[in-house]
Amino acid sequence: MFFRRKKKKVPPPKKKSRISIPDDFWVKCPSCGSILPNPDLTANAKVCPKCGYHFRIGAYEYANLLFDEGIEKEIGANLVSADPLNFPGYKDKMRKYERLYGLKDSSVAGIGHIFGRKVVGFFTDFAFLGGSMGSVFGEKFYRAARESRRKRVPLIAVLFSGGGARMHEGIFSLMQMVKTTVGVIQLEERGVPYITVLGDPTMGGVMASFAALGDVIIAEPNALIGFAGPRVIKQTIGQDLPPGFQRSEFQLEHGQVDLVVDRREMKRTIARLLDMMTAGIR
Ligand SMILES: [Zn+2]
Repeated sequence: MFFRRKKKKVPPPKKKSRISIPDDFWVKCPSCGSILPNPDLTANAKVCPKCGYHFRIGAYEYANLLFDEGIEKEIGANLVSADPLNFPGYKDKMRKYERLYGLKDSSVAGIGHIFGRKVVGFFTDFAFLGGSMGSVFGEKFYRAARESRRKRVPLIAVLFSGGGARMHEGIFSLMQMVKTTVGVIQLEERGVPYITVLGDPTMGGVMASFAALGDVIIAEPNALIGFAGPRVIKQTIGQDLPPGFQRSEFQLEHGQVDLVVDRREMKRTIARLLDMMTAGIR
């Protein structure tokens, strides 16, 4: 006697999907929870169309939003940190970020046009070590300010810098607070307009130097702006902090920033400001 073997069920061959959707196609808004298609979000200046949440944005991306033709001539494009302290793992980290984001450091500087008005731009990128300020950052900002002074064209600095001074370069990073400030003072002496745009976040040594020195200081909505962060302050003073502490709207109310402007209106706003600031000197 024998039993007939049960036929093994073979699963039907998987149909190959003709449409392949990339992993980063859908993005969830951390503020309202809406699921948004990435291309739509990019077309909307990376601002959630449902609730107005401003997603963080890269240095080149911001330059493309603000400038008619993006950055036309880059300043200090090949500067790379010399790792003066031989900080463990620092060089590897820089190489990794260069590979991932195509950035040699946390900032990009260059010449561009805003509705036909020639300007010098300085943009920081949070993706590269938190947009922190090291010696290359300081040097690029100084060269941008120098170019702006020599050509007598306004300087616009757009910042997404969480860490402030970069710990991997120790005192060399802290020295950049002075260097960038000197760049701004020299601009001021020649009466060249300087506008800062503070993104989320703008903190530490960046905020405690050139970021806070703009003739006009603009903030993006709901950006964290300050020196020490709210957690550190809360721990130090042992008190609860008011709602919205250190956010753009709070800083506007307390006189730390001049305007809070939606990113989608940033280019038009800066153009209007430049017209007002340069009236009579053209
Ligand atoms: Zn949203």
